[in-house]
Amino acid sequence: GSTIGILGGGQLGRMLSVAAARLGFKTHIFEPGANPPAGHVADAVTTASYEDADALRSFAAACDVVTFEFENVPTAALDLIEAQVPIRPGREALRISQDRLTEKEFLQGLGLTVAPFADVADAAAMTTAVATIGAPSILKTRRFGYDGKGQARLRSPEDADQAFADMNGAPAILEGFVDFTHEVSVIAARSPAGDVACYDPGENVHRDGILHSTTVPAKLTSSQRMDAVLLAAKVLNALEYVGVLGVELFVTRQGLIVNEIAPRVHNSGHWTQNGCTVDQFEQHIRAIAGWPLGDGSRHADVVMENLIGDDMDRVPALAAEKDTALHLYGKAEVKAGRKMGHVNRISR
Ligand code: ATP
Ligand code: MG
Ligand code: MG
Repeated sequence: GSTIGILGGGQLGRMLSVAAARLGFKTHIFEPGANPPAGHVADAVTTASYEDADALRSFAAACDVVTFEFENVPTAALDLIEAQVPIRPGREALRISQDRLTEKEFLQGLGLTVAPFADVADAAAMTTAVATIGAPSILKTRRFGYDGKGQARLRSPEDADQAFADMNGAPAILEGFVDFTHEVSVIAARSPAGDVACYDPGENVHRDGILHSTTVPAKLTSSQRMDAVLLAAKVLNALEYVGVLGVELFVTRQGLIVNEIAPRVHNSGHWTQNGCTVDQFEQHIRAIAGWPLGDGSRHADVVMENLIGDDMDRVPALAAEKDTALHLYGKAEVKAGRKMGHVNRISR
């Protein structure tokens, strides 16, 4: 059978590997860190840095298609891989979503609504940004942020200096604080032929900047649900995207505001494992392998809850609950704020 290469060996790479194996593919993980969660379920693992050209070349040579669960792969590494084997989704999606400024400009260019934002390249730009965006607002590093890391909140303009100092000189953007009623996301897939399939939007609750739970169905009117799905499809088409993409949205009285996009399977799509015939991981594998997209229609109500850090202590009790599916990532070490697993509670 053919081999799917995955850049990144975290839980997303692990669940992609399991889905690929179910469809008869082999998987090969490339991961700089030791003992990656995906390593236990993949057919092969390359432990090497993204600077190691020889390792990247032999990894690519072993794969028929390469995908990623990790967005911050250095450009030079992608060039080396792409010289030998296709990368799906494509480089453009990665380039845009790696940088919050590029991402916001791209989304605006599609006619979608984003929070007011300003480029903060240096201290002088920060002063201008605070004058235009005001407060409350959030200063975010342009690159490398996740789980709310690399962000500083401004409750008033007086917080500007501290927030700027918190960025440690990294290029940032200042975003106006969106007065949302709740957050939702759309997980959507596109095939090389241009077919699009969207999962039912999920409603997301964050705690301390980290996703806590996703509930389907989300609280949305029929027209909001349609808006959400249409805008996700617009993003996929504009990028000629192949694979699964997550779109995070704020629901406001004025309509939907796009927070960010993730060019990969998404934590808020984990409910699909127990709510759909074909989950987001299989859907991604199907898309990048050029298979027809599968049936992603929702057959149950689901509440997905992340198990973070000490939540692992609850595993014995959770394992005994009815209508509850446990998904654990096999991470050796429990750390505060670390995603260790999740549960999907279903009802019909
Ligand atoms: P992820 O782990 O989803 O990639 P991230 O570090 O990229 O997270 P964001 O999604 O930008 O961070 O922000 C995390 C959370 O902070 C959001 O889901 C939302 O709850 C809140 N937030 C972010 N930006 C804004 C905003 N402009 N207005 C109001 N709340 C916001
Ligand atoms: Mg993000
Ligand atoms: Mg986010």
